[in-house]
Amino acid sequence: MILELTPEQRAFKEQIEQFATEIVAPRAALIDKTGEYPSDVVHAAAGAGLCGVTLPKAWGGLGRDYVSYALAVEAIAKASATVAVALTVTNSLVAEVIAHAGKDQQRERWLRKLATGEGIGAFALSEPDAGTDAANQKTAAIRVSGGYRIRGRKVWVANAEEASVAIVFACTRPGLRGQGVTAFLVPMDAPGITRTARADSLGVRGLGCMDLDLDVDVADDQVLGHVDQGFRLAMWALQGGRVAIAAQALGIGEAALTEAMTYARKREQFGQPIANYQAIQWMIADMATELDAARLLTLKAAAAKDHQEKSTFEASMAKLAASEAAHKAADKAMQILASAGYRRGSVVERLFRDVRATEIYQGTSEAQRMIIAANVLASA
Ligand SMILES: Cc1cc2nc3c(=O)[nH]c(=O)nc-3n(C[C@H](O)[C@H](O)[C@H](O)COP(=O)(O)OP(=O)(O)OC[C@H]3O[C@@H](n4cnc5c(N)ncnc54)[C@H](O)[C@@H]3O)c2cc1C
Repeated sequence: MILELTPEQRAFKEQIEQFATEIVAPRAALIDKTGEYPSDVVHAAAGAGLCGVTLPKAWGGLGRDYVSYALAVEAIAKASATVAVALTVTNSLVAEVIAHAGKDQQRERWLRKLATGEGIGAFALSEPDAGTDAANQKTAAIRVSGGYRIRGRKVWVANAEEASVAIVFACTRPGLRGQGVTAFLVPMDAPGITRTARADSLGVRGLGCMDLDLDVDVADDQVLGHVDQGFRLAMWALQGGRVAIAAQALGIGEAALTEAMTYARKREQFGQPIANYQAIQWMIADMATELDAARLLTLKAAAAKDHQEKSTFEASMAKLAASEAAHKAADKAMQILASAGYRRGSVVERLFRDVRATEIYQGTSEAQRMIIAANVLASA
């Protein structure tokens, strides 16, 4: 077993790390402070290929593998968790889904736009009563001549502030839960979409999360994939999405580790750097070990996405491990910096808030444990 990146993967990682350091990192504090969607940074990232990392070159993507994508997301998240997750929504939850299940005209219409940043994607699954229980879709797609009328409310739709297209999930066969949900490609400028700003959020501020009130007509050719198969498509999308959130968490965790080490080396108490004390060293050892263990699971899940038909189990394990390791790393970094970290506006304070979302979106840690347990218990 050889755990080595290929020369191409390593070179891509270094290229994105440089982009993250030069373009993304200098903006991170301001994005967090203002909570404004970082359009210019997202467009710069699109220019570097980061809105279509795994999309085929024929559609404007970079045609890279999922391992490379995970490496890129980690590098961006180390600089700004918000920018990273904004990019992953367009990549994993929208563009890849259109490439996977879209009809030719849908691919023609959206993929190049998404890959180049001319368009931003959003994924509208959650509803007031459909969070962890995402199959409990109350948004209805009612059959009308030539298409459907979609009526309902979606909540916490990331990127919605700037998105040009959303994948909207709606119930087409009431009472059938996951067997009766259809996915639709809805241009965000369609009449009948009202966007409402989400309440101020604790972390990943500037993600452009909005609620959508929908009373919108869609034609038959806006069905993505097959009628009544939308829930399956959402779960397909989350296999890649969860690898990306695992990578995002790792980036936040790595940033916390870097902050903690830098501070521990220079902060002196009792006449010497606190890094000399075993209590601090053990925290750093645990952070590094847990993040590296989670990275192995994340890269394993990314490789599974590249090579396996289904990678739900691997993706859930990666997301669970990485989000919890990163949460612990941000917590320990706060302890090591103590009052210097607790100050509003410190990098560690931002990481401490940002990391929390990774245990919530694209399925809470409890949801990941449900998936993992079901898979483990079903095995021999
Ligand atoms: C910053 C942010 C961005 C988001 N972006 C998007 C987006 O772009 N698109 C989108 O569709 N959604 C998005 N979401 C919504 C997100 O996916 C949901 O918040 C998440 O799935 C959890 O749903 P909920 O918040 O309704 O919690 P609930 O489902 O109400 O859960 C509450 C608690 O109960 C637990 N729980 C629920 N059911 C069970 C069970 N059976 N067993 C044990 N415990 C259980 C949960 O784990 C949690 O701890 C976003 C959320 C956030 C915070």
